[in-house]
Amino acid sequence: MRIGLTGGIATGKSTVSRLLAAKGVRIVDADVIARDVMNPGQPLLAAVARRFGPEFLLPEGGLDRRRMAEHIFGRPEEREALNAIVHPAIRAEIRRQVEAHEAADPQGIVAADIPLLYESGLEGLYEKVVVVYVPRELQLTRLILRDKLAPEQAESRLHSQLDIEEKKRRADFVIDNSGTPEDTERQVDRLLESLRR
Ligand code: ADP
Repeated sequence: MRIGLTGGIATGKSTVSRLLAAKGVRIVDADVIARDVMNPGQPLLAAVARRFGPEFLLPEGGLDRRRMAEHIFGRPEEREALNAIVHPAIRAEIRRQVEAHEAADPQGIVAADIPLLYESGLEGLYEKVVVVYVPRELQLTRLILRDKLAPEQAESRLHSQLDIEEKKRRADFVIDNSGTPEDTERQVDRLLESLRR
């Protein structure tokens, strides 16, 4: 069975993903894949160089992330052009890894950890979507603490994502991570029981 795991920034996806992994769920991590598709030697980099210019590649052949980030900042069309190259490659690799896990363990559960699952319209690919939720105020507090941000910086990161209440409404399962780690682990156990039934 394949499930999608999502939430908002700093609501606790990584925390829940670690718990699931410790309980035998196979995890596919979209953030890791998003980094890996830009590594030296990946076919996609040739397309990036054609569209944006070779100066966006580092001497070793990987993407110059800082330069690209500066280039697309405040330029929606350029950002879109980059996404049009990168997103299909990320989606294909997620699918490949999910299918490999399913082939290796047909009775098992595979969780695709995709922070922007709803924003990217990927919910239809999964049998169930699990949202890791905390109320917005707590989300802000945890984000500020974890990433040592000023409140305005944290606010602006939240702004670029779909509101966590909306994700909660769309979810098949909600893990409320606003309590203790033990509370969260109990909810993860209940989730797995219900998925295995
Ligand atoms: P995400 O992967 O969704 O961005 P994290 O799992 O990194 O979120 O959690 C965000 C921050 O909140 C981290 O610093 C983490 O240690 C902390 N955190 C997560 N769950 C809890 C919890 N139940 N109680 C207190 N702090 C938590």
